[in-house]
Amino acid sequence: HAKENGKNNYQFFSDEMQSTMFHKIQLENDLREALDNEEFILHYQPQVEAATGKIVGMETLIRWRARDGSIISPAEFIPLAEDTRLILPIGNWVLHNACRQAKKWHDAGHTHLKLAVNLSPLQFMHDDLMDTVDEALESSGFSASSLELEITESVAVYDAEKTIARMQALRNMGVRIALDDFGTGYSSLVYLKKFPINSLKIARPFIQDMVDNPKDKALVEAIVSMAHSLELSVIAEGVETSDQLASLRKLKCDEIQGYFFSKPLAAETFDRLINNKMDSINLR
Ligand code: C2E
Ligand code: MG
Ligand code: MG
Ligand code: MG
Repeated sequence: HAKENGKNNYQFFSDEMQSTMFHKIQLENDLREALDNEEFILHYQPQVEAATGKIVGMETLIRWRARDGSIISPAEFIPLAEDTRLILPIGNWVLHNACRQAKKWHDAGHTHLKLAVNLSPLQFMHDDLMDTVDEALESSGFSASSLELEITESVAVYDAEKTIARMQALRNMGVRIALDDFGTGYSSLVYLKKFPINSLKIARPFIQDMVDNPKDKALVEAIVSMAHSLELSVIAEGVETSDQLASLRKLKCDEIQGYFFSKPLAAETFDRLINNKMDSINLR
C-alpha cells in the first residue's frame, strides 16, 4: 500500500527486478556453500595436435554439481562469482586441484601433457595471483612449464601496463599464457605486439562459420598466419565437424579443441582416454 505511506514512497523495484535479485542472492549463498561442500568438479577437454591427432594437453573446465544433482555450467555462475569476488577462492581451488590431477597424469608417464587453466580478469589482476600460482605448483609438484593460463584480452581494458607486467612475471616463473576467445573482444593488435604470450585461441564463432562463410575462413587464415609470424602457437576452439578440421589442417593451425574430438571429460574418463592407447585418433 504505497499510497498510504505518502506520495513520495513509490515502489522502487519492479516485481521482476525483485525476483531477479532474489534469485541472485539465493545463487550467491548457494555458491558460497558450494565451495565448503565441495560441490565443484573439474572436467578436462583434450587439446589435440591438428597434424597428428595426438592429445597434447587439456583445458580445465569447472562444473557445479548442485545438491539436487543438477549440473550448473560456468557460463551461469562464473559471472556472479566474479561480481561477488567468490571467484578468488573458487579459482584458487581450481588451480590447486587441476595441478594435482595433472601431476598424476605426468607421474603416470604422460609428461608431454600441458594443463590449461582459465583465469578470470579479477583473478588475473589480484595481488595474490603470483603466490596462488606458486603455491599450486609447489604443493602439487607440477612443473610450471606445463601450465598454461588462459586469459581473455578483456583483462587489458583495465590496465594494459599492469597486464603486461603481470604476464611477464608469470612468464618469468616459467608459466605459459594463452589469449582465450581471440577475435571477440577488443583485439587491439597493439596488445598482440606487447603481450608476452605463447598462444592464441581462435574463438568458436569464427570456427563455426569458416566452412560456409569465406570471410570467416579468411579471418581464421589471417589469424593463423599472423600468430605464426609472431611466433605464437594457434589453437582453434569449438571444432565440431570433420570439414572444420580439414580446413584448419590445411591452414596449418597447430591445435584443435572441440566436440569433434571430445567433449570436456570427467578426470576418470580423460584418464581412460589417455591410457587406452586412444591418445591419437585418425584424422583422415
Ligand atoms: P572457454 O574458456 O572459452 O571454454 C570453452 C568453452 O567451450 C567451454 O564451455 C567448453 O565446454 C565449450 N566447448 C568446447 N568445445 C566445444 C564445441 O565443439 N562446441 C561448443 N558449442 N562448445 C564447446 P564451458 O565449460 O561451459 O565454459 C564456459 C566458460 O566458462 C569458459 O569459456 C571460461 O571462460 C569459463 N570457465 C570455465 N571454467 C572456468 C574456471 O575454472 N575458471 C574461470 N575463471 N573460468 C572458467
Ligand atoms: Mg578457455
Ligand atoms: Mg575460449
Ligand atoms: Mg570464454
